[in-house]
Amino acid sequence: MQRSITTDHPKESCGLFGVYDVGTAASSIHRGLFAQQHRGQEGSGIVVSDGEKIRSIKGLGLIDEVFSGESLAQLPGHLGIGHVRYSTTGSDRIQNVQPLVVECVDGIWAVAHNGNLTNARKLRRMYQESGAIFQTSTDSEVLVHLLADPMYRSRPRRVARALHELEGAFSFLLMTKNCVMAARDPMGFRPLSIGRLNGGYVFASETCALAQTGAEYVRDVEPGELVVVDAAGLHSSRFAECPTDRLAQCVFELVYFARPDSRVFGYNAHEIRLQYGMRLAEEHPVDADIVISVPDSGNDAALGYSRGSGIPLDFGFIRNHYVGRTFIMPEQRDRASSVDMKLSVLPETVSGKRVVVVDDSIVRGTTCKRRVACLREAGASEIHVRVSCPPTANPCFYGIDLPTHEELVGAQMSVDEIREFIGADSLGYLSQEGLLSPFNNPEHFCAACFTGNYPSDVSHMKGKEALEASAPELALDP
Ligand code: SF4
Repeated sequence: MQRSITTDHPKESCGLFGVYDVGTAASSIHRGLFAQQHRGQEGSGIVVSDGEKIRSIKGLGLIDEVFSGESLAQLPGHLGIGHVRYSTTGSDRIQNVQPLVVECVDGIWAVAHNGNLTNARKLRRMYQESGAIFQTSTDSEVLVHLLADPMYRSRPRRVARALHELEGAFSFLLMTKNCVMAARDPMGFRPLSIGRLNGGYVFASETCALAQTGAEYVRDVEPGELVVVDAAGLHSSRFAECPTDRLAQCVFELVYFARPDSRVFGYNAHEIRLQYGMRLAEEHPVDADIVISVPDSGNDAALGYSRGSGIPLDFGFIRNHYVGRTFIMPEQRDRASSVDMKLSVLPETVSGKRVVVVDDSIVRGTTCKRRVACLREAGASEIHVRVSCPPTANPCFYGIDLPTHEELVGAQMSVDEIREFIGADSLGYLSQEGLLSPFNNPEHFCAACFTGNYPSDVSHMKGKEALEASAPELALDP
């Protein structure tokens, strides 16, 4: 009998794509977002300008559900920005779908954000107390209020000054009717790259989106840099100095989030995962007959484990690529309903075999437990779980949706207790040294969800829907 199971991974971040003068903006952005659908499936939006008028289409769901050929035809223009969303702050309601589009006294602005602002609650409260009304429950909206604030609006370098007020993780794309801007926070948590296409400029969270639109990679937006592209070309300035002692590039982008064909922070994700697998084979060797991966995100590390150990790689799980976004929405009930839909075991591969199964992470542990049980039911004689990162023991406050300490199995149990909980014969995680070993500059990576060493103060942070009702205690007085 064929048994089926799903995955339990950290949830995606968001994806950005922007263009200036590459031809038809909307179709390029559509392609660029499509290449980054893995970064967010809850909603997507495209905003374009023809130099006179700004138009936008946004909706809940996958890109194909939000946009059709006809809808793209309603978006004429040569510049624009787009966003795919996974909610790391704010719920999955339509108002929260980005780019946010607002009308200030001096014109229309559009804003798209990847990351998480750690001082959003404070800024939001400050503006609300002075009478501002917020349309969304996202942290990103505070940038819009900073831009509209006369304190910033009426002074030179308005965008740079506004960005300078923000703390935490952010890659932003902004646009007005005649320019596109890109910025990365001073610690460089989230990726953002610049490309060239048809003589114009392209911005993308991941380089795979540059490749799939035919753009040539030029460079990354530097941490603390603001890039502006308009009719006069590309201008670069700094809105903040980079900390000289360290950046905080998110190592989880390379462990799991980024597509294997993307270069992130100067490293190819596939190559890094291959090295993790080889190192895992060194750190946790075992006598076994086959290595299998939890597809797709465990594929590269499984190949590395196979190469490092000399144990042949085989297909033990088959992924159903047609399981829709229902199964990757954030609510627990949706995850539970997907348990038997996403992955199937191939008994012909695993029956009677000593199996090494390589996964990229264990978050709550419940899905891994079920995965092991399915392999056992399919006849595997031994099951050795290998994980291509250290135990995930701390939540993320920088834009990745990891659960709380209470829900993270890596925070609640020792490795041996986790092994017993998931029912494996052995369990081996990549060491913290192994995690950072592929990098020339390991001090410039954030690994706080593994180490607990957060690169900035997060003691005041609350859950992802903390902005949903940020002033409930204020009495309404009509
Ligand atoms: S805490 Fe983890 S997921 Fe969050 S930015 Fe740091 S490495 Fe990335």
